[in-house]
Amino acid sequence: MAQRKSHKKHVYTQIARLTCNHGRFRAHLNKIKLSEDDRCTYCKKERGDTNHIIFGCEVHKDKIDILLKDLQIMQLALPVNVNYVLAQDQKDINCRLYKHLASISPGSEGHLQL
Ligand SMILES: [Zn+2]
Repeated sequence: MAQRKSHKKHVYTQIARLTCNHGRFRAHLNKIKLSEDDRCTYCKKERGDTNHIIFGCEVHKDKIDILLKDLQIMQLALPVNVNYVLAQDQKDINCRLYKHLASISPGSEGHLQL
């Protein structure tokens, strides 16, 4: 039971960070002077901001394609961006977004630092 609450807290924390545009992504870390490089951790080509990590990074194309299909099934119109997805304020959509983040950074669900 405690683990379930902890998981819910992690989901809430990550979604809150995304909503505030304070995700631990390179672009944000660079902005607050915690990283010298703002490029994506994975492809090292594009600016590593929230939308790139979640919807645009070529390294995670397969996972992104699955996420987009799932969001379509959840009645979201494509194309999407993080602000549009979060504006839906729907628990199932937020959980799907969290699972996507966890899948591209396995083992770090509580401390997603991309
Ligand atoms: Zn990338």
